[in-house]
Amino acid sequence: MKTDTLTPLEAEIRRRIESAGSLPVWQYMELCLTHPEHGYYCTRGRIGAGGDFTTAPEISQMFGELIGIWAAAAWRAMGAPENVRLVELGPGRGTMMLDALRAAKVVPAFRAAIVLHMVEISPVLEDLQRQALIATDVPVSWHRTLDDLPAGPLIIVANEFIDALPVHQAVMCADGWHERVIKLGEDEELHFSIDRDPSPLFDDFLPGEIRNARIGEIFEWRADHIALEIGQRVVRSGGVALIIDYGHVRSAIGDTLQAVSRHGFVDPLADPGMADLTAHVDFRALAQAAEGMGARVHGPVTQARFLRRLGIGQRASVLKAAAPADYASTIDAAVGRLTDEDRLGMGQLIKVLALSNPKLHSLPGFEA
Ligand code: SAH
Repeated sequence: MKTDTLTPLEAEIRRRIESAGSLPVWQYMELCLTHPEHGYYCTRGRIGAGGDFTTAPEISQMFGELIGIWAAAAWRAMGAPENVRLVELGPGRGTMMLDALRAAKVVPAFRAAIVLHMVEISPVLEDLQRQALIATDVPVSWHRTLDDLPAGPLIIVANEFIDALPVHQAVMCADGWHERVIKLGEDEELHFSIDRDPSPLFDDFLPGEIRNARIGEIFEWRADHIALEIGQRVVRSGGVALIIDYGHVRSAIGDTLQAVSRHGFVDPLADPGMADLTAHVDFRALAQAAEGMGARVHGPVTQARFLRRLGIGQRASVLKAAAPADYASTIDAAVGRLTDEDRLGMGQLIKVLALSNPKLHSLPGFEA
């Protein structure tokens, strides 16, 4: 066994497996990402071109700017409350919020109404966000979870946040669904495996299209907590939430757990805590949970469609007119990356969903 090269997190994961026999995938993901001392986000969270993975706001300022304009329109649709909580879940380096606040200056009454709340579990990323926002004149506070946020009208934005929340995996076996787990093999390495006993509960709550899965197929789902919390807040306090993430419109079979380091895929079980782990969002399940709390659902639409409807083309033209001529191709390339509709392009794979108070019938980007 490679004890001499074990990271502290891998040593802890092995200890847990030795005492319990196995570790469910969701728990492994949670430890790898948000273990307070050794989790990926809590120690590094290297986002952007020079890091492990790039997100839309790190590709271009246009992304955060359009989100800022969208938030201003949502605020108007809410009846322009005098104070509004602008909440970002998992703000990374703070780039999207900085761009959004700058763009929001075109609607001064909205900008003046904003009280900013950043929901961030990682002290390392919180520091980066504080640095990013140091020069803004908007009141801002940080929270570890959405549950800690005071009540009041709110606009929640979240880009690539839900895909970092732990996912359960179940594997179809001859006698039904079993939770997918991680065990130590005879070679003393970490391996995927299945829990010995079937989980009869799965059969009751699985969506219809999943019921006739074949042996060996995998189904993923997340705890509903965040969707219920968002749904409840937009209904009770009034407001909207905009959720942008890699995911599928319908619940579907498939293993989407992936690890990324230095812009390449790596083995999710190698070097726990050293890579970003994500799994796609089941937008149907998310929407249904929030709907259960009384929220209205808008979309999902693809990121390409959403950004085009918000006017990414016009925004690019304005930037190009103001930028040196040789910068035009960089702006075009950024629009391409954000709206590329190839099967694996961000424009197609990333979906945008809004959840709102039922009084809000229509929101920009989601018009029929
Ligand atoms: N939205 C940013 C960063 C995406 S990465 C961007 O688009 O660039 C995921 C972000 O969510 C990071 O900031 C990470 O630290 C945060 N995060 C992950 N799990 C979290 C949790 N359980 N609670 C709060 N924040 C979390």
